[in-house]
Amino acid sequence: METARQKLNEYIKSQLTDHRVEIAIEKVDRKEFIPSDQKDYAYMDVPLPIGCSQTISQPSLVAWMTEQLELKENDTILEVGTGSGYQAALLAELAKEVVTIERIPELSQRAERILTKLGYTNVTAMTGDGSKGYPAKAPYDAVIVTAAGQNIPQLLIDQLAEGGRLIIPIGGPIAQEIIKGIKREGKLTTQRLLPVRFVPLIEE
Ligand code: SAH
Repeated sequence: METARQKLNEYIKSQLTDHRVEIAIEKVDRKEFIPSDQKDYAYMDVPLPIGCSQTISQPSLVAWMTEQLELKENDTILEVGTGSGYQAALLAELAKEVVTIERIPELSQRAERILTKLGYTNVTAMTGDGSKGYPAKAPYDAVIVTAAGQNIPQLLIDQLAEGGRLIIPIGGPIAQEIIKGIKREGKLTTQRLLPVRFVPLIEE
């Protein structure tokens, strides 16, 4: 019989086209990143609370955003909003190096513990304000923001490589849209992709 995990993965994969992302979805077990009181719901396609008033996004959306980054094996990626660490693990499967920043120390440390336990050696988990990026490892081939901002932080555009892709939900507390940007000749060209609802990006 098909398990809940297999069923969820089949559903997610039916919406993807990038085979590498499909493999990463199969490989990374979302349950590992879910707090113990929520584990029963790990394989439902819904966002879940992860403590500190934050949430892990719906897995089909995480997968779809990952696909939009058009990742290649040698890419260096910046994630803003580590949260549970699930998205970071998917990125680590698909790229060479991942820097992930979370402003809440408790979440950042928990995610780092889980990622280390699972054997990821290509993820650097940092605590701080990710809206300022992390210039030390820039430029990034891809930048993904998993909290919603009012606009695209300029420092993140600055730290994107030529040809780099940026995915970010933009909007107010109720309604937001996923925006995809590509940097060409130093300028970001953007397109609106999908209406969504994320927790806010807090700029300090
Ligand atoms: N990608 C996560 C889900 C993130 S939820 C996962 O896979 O589980 C969004 C996270 O962004 C929250 O944990 C929130 O604390 C964090 N956040 C909000 N503003 C931030 C900022 N300026 N810098 C870093 N993290 C931020």
